[in-house]
Amino acid sequence: MGAQTSSVVGGVAKETVVGPIIMLGPPGAGKGTQAKLIAQRYEIPQISTGDLLRDNVAHKTDLGLRAQASMDRGDLVPDDLVCDMVALRLQLADCVKGFILDGFPRTVQQASWLDGYLETMRAGKNAAGQAACAPPVVIRLMVEYNNSLQRIVGRRSCPTCGRIYNIYFQPPIVEGICDFDGTPLVSRLDDSEDVVKERLKTYERQTLPLVDYYRAQGRLVEIDGDLPVEDVTARTVQALESRRSP
Ligand code: AMP
Repeated sequence: MGAQTSSVVGGVAKETVVGPIIMLGPPGAGKGTQAKLIAQRYEIPQISTGDLLRDNVAHKTDLGLRAQASMDRGDLVPDDLVCDMVALRLQLADCVKGFILDGFPRTVQQASWLDGYLETMRAGKNAAGQAACAPPVVIRLMVEYNNSLQRIVGRRSCPTCGRIYNIYFQPPIVEGICDFDGTPLVSRLDDSEDVVKERLKTYERQTLPLVDYYRAQGRLVEIDGDLPVEDVTARTVQALESRRSP
């Protein structure tokens, strides 16, 4: 990574230009967990299209109303709606040294839109500006089908602080209650077993082709997502640092 080291936090210079990172993998692969850790490490935003869409649904925005039916079924929201939403998010100032996309792109059309968007962003920028919107590094988390299923079906989250638990792998101390603030935990409606199976099928059909898309461009890094969380993070960081080294 192209770091200037005037102010170093946790081994990472604050000014380090990280560039775009994509987390790719099926639902339940741990994309959100890893994206959060990487985002904290490099002080870049984690952009989860699922979270942005759920926020729009909760606030009954025009986008939310148009997206809800597809989300409830476990289908993808149409590309144009999601790309417009991502374009608005990427314009915010916090993306200036990079960002980590969690759940986007999910179709080849979205990936090729993103390539075009980043290319346009690079035009007319200086070297640091160009590095911030360089072609992305794509981290593919590979997990066994049954592990994905169990990770999602067991997932519970705290609506107050956003902490994520899993009733099988990482249960709260008191069943159904957040360890940190005592709020009752909730499951996402689309985490029910039927919808999850649909989401996994959607992944195989529409998102898996991205593996070849990014492999052909030499941007794909494959990591065993069934390893413990800290090992996945360590391998991800190692891959990012070696990819970004001048
Ligand atoms: P997630 O939280 O990433 O599992 O996303 C939840 C749901 O939001 C998905 O099942 C889709 O319906 C929708 N969604 C999230 N990201 C995208 C995307 N990039 N393209 C289309 N639909 C998406």
